[in-house]
Amino acid sequence: MSWELQILGTSAASPTKDRFPSAQLLQTSKQSILIDCGEGTQIQLSKFGAKWMRINHILISHLHGDHFYGLPGIITSYQLFGRETPLTIHGPRGLRELIYAVLKASDVQLKYELRISEHDTSQSLCILDQDSLRVLTIPLKHRAPTAGFLIQEKIPPRKLVAERLLEYQIPDHARSRLAWGEDGYSDAGDLVPNSKLTTPNRRPHSYAYCSDTAYHPDIVDLIKDVQILYHEATYMHDLVDLAAARGHTTSVQAAQIANLVNTQRLIVGHFSGRYQNLEPLLAECREVFSNTTLAKEGELIRFD
Ligand SMILES: [Zn+2]
Repeated sequence: MSWELQILGTSAASPTKDRFPSAQLLQTSKQSILIDCGEGTQIQLSKFGAKWMRINHILISHLHGDHFYGLPGIITSYQLFGRETPLTIHGPRGLRELIYAVLKASDVQLKYELRISEHDTSQSLCILDQDSLRVLTIPLKHRAPTAGFLIQEKIPPRKLVAERLLEYQIPDHARSRLAWGEDGYSDAGDLVPNSKLTTPNRRPHSYAYCSDTAYHPDIVDLIKDVQILYHEATYMHDLVDLAAARGHTTSVQAAQIANLVNTQRLIVGHFSGRYQNLEPLLAECREVFSNTTLAKEGELIRFD
């Protein structure tokens, strides 16, 4: 299955009448991952018809309120709706204490398993490694300890060609390693080169989420060639000094990162509430990196 990303919130700092704070839902072949959980994320999930009971991992970039104030609500709603499956929340140090303080004050005893996994945001770490994907953190440059997330699909490099397997009489038990590039053996024990039995697989999907951060080209090597890049662009470029002072990025700087990364597509978001019309901000991005789009709440983005 192709991956799908749904944008749920695009506002920096406070919600505005048109925009919610940061949240996104990434649906992969086997996982449903919520990335950041600003205030009102539950409202957005239900408004856009997302299957939110399926979410099994939540990734929190940092502990500024516009990126996690939706967590207590969603944790307790799962309790009300009878969730039974475990939920894992990944975030910077301090997250566990915050969540348990709220649960204790509200006298909530969870009936499902809540796992909270804290990480050091100063270095890139693998925080989730499964059969179908891995998640690495991206150390960012912000006023609070912050890490973005690089989510990489794991698929074998080769695809089996069914008619060739029959033609060369490759037994079932000898097929599992072919997708990983090993040669095959026929029923009679003859070696058959891998290239006769397989074709190259498609490129694995990958997604990088970079918010919040000042302009920080140090991340480029880690996310080089990522398929889709989400990068914050809180301000237009005339406010470049303000952006640096507040640990944020401008339109032009986000597009410069996209160029350096050589991504297929840039999505910008985390817009300052001062902008009602975002088209001028988008135009600034596109002057530097043409395949840029604005994050739009409710929009579903498919990974081709
Ligand atoms: Zn922040």
